[in-house]
Amino acid sequence: MKTTLLTDLTVRDICDGFVYNEFEGKGLFGWGGKLVIQPEYQRNYIYADGKKDVAVINSLLMKYPLGLIYFVKTKDGVYEVLDGQQRITSFGRYVTNKFAIMDNNDIPNYFTSLPSNLQEIILNSKLTIYICEGEESEIKEWYKTINIAGVPLNNQELLNSIYSGPFVNLAREEFSNSRNANVQKWRAYINGDVNRQSFLETALQWVSKGDVEKYMSRHRYENNIDELKYYFYSVIDWISTVFIDVDKSMRGLEWGRLYDTYHGNSYSPNEVSKQVNDLLSDPFVTNNKGIFEYILAGSNDTTLLNIRVFNEASKQKIYNEQTKIAKEKNISNCPLCAVGNNNNKARIWKYAEMEADHVTSWSKGGATTDDNCEMLCKTHNRVKGNK
Ligand SMILES: [Zn+2]
Repeated sequence: MKTTLLTDLTVRDICDGFVYNEFEGKGLFGWGGKLVIQPEYQRNYIYADGKKDVAVINSLLMKYPLGLIYFVKTKDGVYEVLDGQQRITSFGRYVTNKFAIMDNNDIPNYFTSLPSNLQEIILNSKLTIYICEGEESEIKEWYKTINIAGVPLNNQELLNSIYSGPFVNLAREEFSNSRNANVQKWRAYINGDVNRQSFLETALQWVSKGDVEKYMSRHRYENNIDELKYYFYSVIDWISTVFIDVDKSMRGLEWGRLYDTYHGNSYSPNEVSKQVNDLLSDPFVTNNKGIFEYILAGSNDTTLLNIRVFNEASKQKIYNEQTKIAKEKNISNCPLCAVGNNNNKARIWKYAEMEADHVTSWSKGGATTDDNCEMLCKTHNRVKGNK
């Protein structure tokens, strides 16, 4: 790979012919048409928050360096921005009057309303640009490892760059587009930010059963995303059919795995709804996120719900009471050891050798209160717990 350092290109040079697509949220071209600002593997413009974009302009006005920018020179002589897209798009948008900065009197200043000496400071700012030429594979490998100034790329953004091509383009149009009307619905079940590729990442995880990289590599040059799209829609439809209410604890569950495991079973949405609401309002259920799989799996596996346990004070109190009575009667302080005919019939267990048990289990309506607590030796507690 060959690299060349340029230090005399200015903001003015790069802004020559700057085009920004407001609808797609990306800077497209600059440097008199020679520069592609958002090549297909780059992420969307995320600096347009009135802070990061303004900070770029203030840095230029203070004559601070903007940091290294990387361009790739392609075989047809065009340059693509490898790193620096956010900064270039910020000053390009400012110079073309797309946003304002506040002056000391809190007056918004668009570029054309700035005093001309300040306009000149911005336009004459010199940039530090590395131009790289080489094979696509080596440039992408290097891109994967460079330490990027500003907001580092997340894992999915890196994969999008490594497996760039028609498949990623189509997939981003569907899953990374905040104007997609479905995004609101998806948000009920999926965590993260559509612009930072969270929804695309989730869709890929679901269809690939977690092997996103292999899936992207295999489909990289395909011109359709049918499988990805239909699988994703099947999962979403299934969730919203089985669970007719939406609760915030549904966000970010492993819905792909739950769909694969349970979508062959039939459920009554109304009964499920009642069960969900009962469990959500049950004070002894401490893991609301486990409620959905608990129901899907047949309402047996209470470990998913993480039922409230007895606190130390309660356990100590019950232990002392049981032990006192046991010593008086010369029997074991484990009630189950005491009734059997075994070596431990009269054994007094230490506190650390015992565990707290619900006399009436949670699933039969037993509460996590002192009057429903008994201390058992570990062996008996585990035997009972497995019943
Ligand atoms: Zn026992």
